[in-house]
Amino acid sequence: MLKHRLVLAASLLVFASTSAMAEKAWTVKPEWVAAHEAFLASDALRGRKSASPDEAIAAAYVAAQFQSYGLKPAPGMDGYLQTAGVVTPKLTGHAALKAGTLNVAEGEGLTLLYANGKPVSGILGFPVSDDPAKLPAADIVLVSDLGKTPLAGWWRAARAKGIKLLVVRESDDSRALLKRFGGQTGTAPQLDSGQNGMGGARPDLASLSDKAFNDVIAGFGVLGTLPASLDLGDATLERSVTTNAIGYLQGSDPSAGVILVTAHLDHLGVQPDGTIMHGANDDASGTVAVLEVAHALAAGKQPKRSLLFVAYGSEEIGGLGSTYFGEHPPVPLDRIVANLEFEMIGAQDPKMAKGELMMTGFERSNLGETLKAKGAKVTSDPYPDQHFFERSDNYSLALKGIVAHTISGWAVTPTYHDKTDDIAHLDLPFMTQAIQSLIVPVEYLVNSDFKPEWKPGGKPEAK
Ligand SMILES: [Zn+2]
Repeated sequence: MLKHRLVLAASLLVFASTSAMAEKAWTVKPEWVAAHEAFLASDALRGRKSASPDEAIAAAYVAAQFQSYGLKPAPGMDGYLQTAGVVTPKLTGHAALKAGTLNVAEGEGLTLLYANGKPVSGILGFPVSDDPAKLPAADIVLVSDLGKTPLAGWWRAARAKGIKLLVVRESDDSRALLKRFGGQTGTAPQLDSGQNGMGGARPDLASLSDKAFNDVIAGFGVLGTLPASLDLGDATLERSVTTNAIGYLQGSDPSAGVILVTAHLDHLGVQPDGTIMHGANDDASGTVAVLEVAHALAAGKQPKRSLLFVAYGSEEIGGLGSTYFGEHPPVPLDRIVANLEFEMIGAQDPKMAKGELMMTGFERSNLGETLKAKGAKVTSDPYPDQHFFERSDNYSLALKGIVAHTISGWAVTPTYHDKTDDIAHLDLPFMTQAIQSLIVPVEYLVNSDFKPEWKPGGKPEAK
């Protein structure tokens, strides 16, 4: 009896020592997640405004964490930060729209909602239906009746058609958009190389009062077209700098390629009335996911493929950080096998099954279905009308041909771009679990030979 006990004790000892040597499953601790959020979404960071010193502080924090986890600077870089110059037009004069002989100035019926900072001239046309797909190929287009499509949908359609200026009737929709731009004309920041952000330039957008709109229509006559131009008054360029934080984990097989894991660290900054837009979910949550996935991977055994972890600046002003990264990648783009972007994983969509995350553009490639088969809790995007695939940094890389998707918890959360997007509105247990669930798929990707591919018609083309 005694002897038997001794044998049992000895075998338990053997068991204990082998399991200690085997790799322990990594656990994302909720206090790590909470601590990153407490800094990134703090009042001190003032909403991490795109291309601002506050954004640079957030990037410095991410870089410091990367370094503490044991990540190295990416090839060719001597640190963890990549910066790019940004120029933003500032309109200081009064804009005016000229249509035929009619001149409508700002304050007299014209509201300029969004401008690229350059004057526009061309032929004015107006669509014969309320279907944005049937927009005419004119330089400047007048839309009298938005029909069932929200203004943002028309704006996207106009961008796809290469229209330079879209003019609509003033409505609740147009007033809401102006409010989103802080009550003044939204402008299009560019990289100082002259390059636009994701998907190229958006058309200028203006609204007209009913009277001004009807006056313009009256000028059409029988031809259905009219020469028109938009004069912006005085415009100057404001210069700033945006910052990406980049960490690198070298894989054991240099020929196996690189997996790119990303989020954006910027948000909307401080509103004109002093309200801090904390962006705890958008996208401090994704940034925390990049950090903690990096933490887990750096602590494990060396992966086969290399990993680039990037927290981009200036997503909110058109994906400028990711666009710059795509133009100046630390490894050749053809070595990047796949890109996973994490966006807004701080709350779960009540429409989806418990613990499930959505992947934008799921059907476009075989990446999502493969990760799902390997146990990832990802599913297709339930909101295809929202074009989320084209609305985050993954798109900058997808336009370069890389299979790139965004994983999100609740893309249509009521806190979206609202002052309520703060730590109090995060679901930290869900967020911790979501990050935990991302580690296994990333580990699979970095250790496998699987090379994701676009499905026919899935690869986006630049507009
Ligand atoms: Zn956002």
